[in-house]
Amino acid sequence: MVKNAQLSFTDTQIAFSSKSDSELMKTYALFASMDYPSLVKVGTFLISGAFKINLPIKPLVKHTLFTQFCGGESIKDCQNTIEKLGEYKIGTILDYSVEGAHNDKSFNETEKEIILTIQKAATSKHVPFSVFKVTGIAPVPLLEKVQAGEALSEKEQETWDKAQERVDHLCRSAYEHGVRIFIDAEETWIQKVIDDLAMDMMRKYNKEEAIVYNTYQMYLHAKLEQLKGDLEVAKTEGFKLGVKLVRGAYMEKEAKRAAEMGYQNPIQPSKEACDNDYNAALKLIVENHNHFALCAGTHNEKSSMYLAELMSKMGISESNKDFYFAQLYGMSDHISYNLSNSGYNVAKYVPYGPVKEVMPYLFRRAEENTSIAGQSSREFMLVKQEMKRRKESK
Ligand SMILES: Cc1cc2nc3c(=O)[nH]c(=O)nc-3n(C[C@H](O)[C@H](O)[C@H](O)COP(=O)(O)OP(=O)(O)OC[C@H]3O[C@@H](n4cnc5c(N)ncnc54)[C@H](O)[C@@H]3O)c2cc1C
Repeated sequence: MVKNAQLSFTDTQIAFSSKSDSELMKTYALFASMDYPSLVKVGTFLISGAFKINLPIKPLVKHTLFTQFCGGESIKDCQNTIEKLGEYKIGTILDYSVEGAHNDKSFNETEKEIILTIQKAATSKHVPFSVFKVTGIAPVPLLEKVQAGEALSEKEQETWDKAQERVDHLCRSAYEHGVRIFIDAEETWIQKVIDDLAMDMMRKYNKEEAIVYNTYQMYLHAKLEQLKGDLEVAKTEGFKLGVKLVRGAYMEKEAKRAAEMGYQNPIQPSKEACDNDYNAALKLIVENHNHFALCAGTHNEKSSMYLAELMSKMGISESNKDFYFAQLYGMSDHISYNLSNSGYNVAKYVPYGPVKEVMPYLFRRAEENTSIAGQSSREFMLVKQEMKRRKESK
């Protein structure tokens, strides 16, 4: 049992309390259209094509998919979203989601943009974290080479030095502003480099409190052991281990590469094994909470409830600043709003960027919300349930 006995994720009234009837209707229409896998496939194809030949498709996307899943095109644009979530005590994590060119110019721009998000977090009580991806500031082929231990050319060494400087610059800036910063997790063939960088940053900036958080993907069968090992390092060296705990987003890609290259798939043998390790990691963290700061990045109701129960068992207050829950903007509001209503710390990843550039992100969200084997997405069913409840209560 959780201390806060009224915590439940079934209350759609709380889940959609920020939405007016007309906003809810708009959400309903969007999820209804995403319910059809073939429509999403054709829509994705047509929208991509329309952007390529400069057809005026932006207004349509902006008023539908973009509004549902993104905060705006710039930090300033996200202000409304930040305030609206803030009214319900839900924090915003500004996620610069441009998935474009990978060159020095774009890396510089991304670095500058992340610094702006850190500055925004430092001045807004509703922005509790910043976030970045190492691949937003460093080339993937180079990270692969470093991880594989291959010799670097002089030019590559220069780029690698610059990449490390960028990571340090972002974490130092976060430290100086007193803002916590997540380093997102990516594919296994570059993740060891990211992990090493993250541990170095934690050694440097997490001595007094957790500023830097690395991301642990529990769909990897080796991750729980790594987390235990990192805990020992943190204990011995005297720093806090910042952990964003997720299941992992690149399952198909990982399996495909492993099969193609003939090595063992690093992904757990089953969803159940992944869930077990996710929950075991939560337990490890709560039981050693003096050494950790945690953000549970999940849309899984059972894991979210389990964390609330573990916190209650260990006497950790719901509002303890070292314990956060996080979901993506536009999804799983039944978890976010019900948790925050019960006093837990909650934040939403709020992606932002020019419409055209965030399209890959939006297509992934659309695909995720199609029906599977004729079963509508959980999001769509919750919206329908709330529409019904409002109708009956009138
Ligand atoms: C705030 C936030 C931040 C995130 N940051 C990152 C990040 O930095 N890096 C990253 O990779 N992902 C990130 N994610 C995505 C995350 O990893 C998951 O893909 C997503 O949240 C779905 O998992 P879930 O815990 O919500 O729940 P569920 O819906 O219960 O789980 C689905 C997940 O389970 C795993 N899974 C499914 N089937 C199997 C199987 N057969 N075997 C093994 N595992 C299986 C997969 O990871 C799948 O995504 C983030 C998510 C959130 C909400």
